[in-house]
Amino acid sequence: EAKKLGKNRVALYSDKIDSSSNRRLDMEKNMRDAAVSGYKEFEVYFQPIMDIQLPGTPCTGAEALIRWNSEELGFITPAEFIPLAEYLGLINPIGNYVLRESCFFCKQWNDNGHPNYKVNVNLSVVQLLQTDIVEIVAQTLKDTGINPRNLTLEVTESLAINDMERMKSILAKIKKLGVRIALDDFGTGYSSLNHIREIPFDVIKVDQSFVKDLAGDAYSQSFIRMVAELADAIDVSICVEGIETKEQYKVLEGMKVRLVQGYYFDKPLPRAEFENRYVKIDKYEEEKK
Ligand code: C2E
Ligand code: MG
Ligand code: MG
Ligand code: MG
Repeated sequence: EAKKLGKNRVALYSDKIDSSSNRRLDMEKNMRDAAVSGYKEFEVYFQPIMDIQLPGTPCTGAEALIRWNSEELGFITPAEFIPLAEYLGLINPIGNYVLRESCFFCKQWNDNGHPNYKVNVNLSVVQLLQTDIVEIVAQTLKDTGINPRNLTLEVTESLAINDMERMKSILAKIKKLGVRIALDDFGTGYSSLNHIREIPFDVIKVDQSFVKDLAGDAYSQSFIRMVAELADAIDVSICVEGIETKEQYKVLEGMKVRLVQGYYFDKPLPRAEFENRYVKIDKYEEEKK
C-alpha cells in the first residue's frame, strides 16, 4: 500500500511535468541555483498564532512559512515549489535552512521579553525520512540555543501513513529531544483518529477547509467541536487555522479551542514585520546572526 501511494505521488507529479515542462525546467534550474547561492531567494515568513481564551487574544508565537522569490521567475508559492523541491532532492537543504532560521529567530524573541513564544516549522515526509533527521534537529537546537519546548514540528497525516512504524520511531526520538510535534491539516487526506492514538502529538491543527463555511455549516461546526473535545480530553492542544472572518472566529469562541491562526488575525509576515507587530522590545543586534 505504501509503495502504491509513493508511485501515485510520482505519477501525479509527472502529469504536471508533462503539461508545463518549460515552467518545470525553469523552476528546476532556478531552484538549484538558489540552493547553491546560499538560499538568498528564499525567505521565511512568520504567521502569528493567537490564544483566544486569553484577554486580548495575545500572540503565542508563529508558524514559519517559506517564500521563494525567484529573480528570474518571480514569486512562486510553496504549493508549487515544495513538491518539485522534494522531487529534486532539494527539500532537505531548503528545509534545514528554514528550521535553522526559525529556531534562531525564535530564540531571539524568547530572550527579548517573550520567553514562551513558540515557532512551528513544517516538515514534509521526505524531510522526516532523511537518515540523520534526529541529529539535524538536535544540532539545530544546540547551535541556536532555543529551548526545545519552543520548537514545534508540523507533520501531515496524509504522509504519515506511508511507513507508520518508521515514522513513529523517528517522531519518538525527536520528542525525546523535548521538541513538540503537531499533526497538520487534520481531517483531510488519509485521516484517521488512529494516528492520534498511535503517535503522541502535542498539537492537532484542524484543516482550514473546516473553517471555510464554519458560520453556516453544521457539519464543520460539529467536527471542530468534536476534535476540540477529544483534544481536551487527551490533553493535546488544538489549533484552528484559516480563520478569515469575525463570524468564523465567533463560532470558535464558544468551543474548547485555544489556538487560532488566519488572515482575520494576521497574514504570514516577513520577519521584520512580525517583530514590529509582536516582538515589542529592544531590537537585538542583527550581526549576532
Ligand atoms: P500549512 O502548513 O497548512 O500552512 C498553512 C497555509 O495556509 C499557509 O499557506 C498559509 O499562508 C495559509 N493561510 C494562513 N491563514 C490563512 C487564511 O486565513 N486563509 C487562507 N486561505 N489561507 C491561510 P502557504 O504559506 O502558501 O503554505 C502552503 C503549504 O506549504 C503549507 O501548508 C505547508 O504544507 C507547505 N509549506 C510552507 N512552508 C513550508 C516549509 O518551510 N517546509 C515545508 N516542508 N512545507 C512548507
Ligand atoms: Mg503547517
Ligand atoms: Mg495546515
Ligand atoms: Mg497544508
